[in-house]
Amino acid sequence: MELNHITEKSCIDCGAKVVRETRKDKHTNGLWNEYKEYQCGKIVHFIPNYGLSSEPRVETQCPKTKKNRLKAEKRVNLKLHLIEVIEDSDADEEYKKTLIVSIKYR
Ligand SMILES: [Zn+2]
Repeated sequence: MELNHITEKSCIDCGAKVVRETRKDKHTNGLWNEYKEYQCGKIVHFIPNYGLSSEPRVETQCPKTKKNRLKAEKRVNLKLHLIEVIEDSDADEEYKKTLIVSIKYR
């Protein structure tokens, strides 16, 4: 499928290939919502609400940029730190387990 408003053939941050192109939910102005997903995980969305002057928006950032790698690393470190604090607490094990599970998968 050829999208009309998201024209990059690869991720502009890392060069990853396109893995999915979708068009859905046609706006009353006749334009479609368009989505393009790259192999790296980046997702770009064209929202047709402002007609042809709408700009595609990055919904999920490329994880391979230095800034986003650093952000992810900081999140993992924070998660590990929080889990350590919870494990060291003398609160009941059941509650600690619940908290850890809720943190682990975020
Ligand atoms: Zn990328």
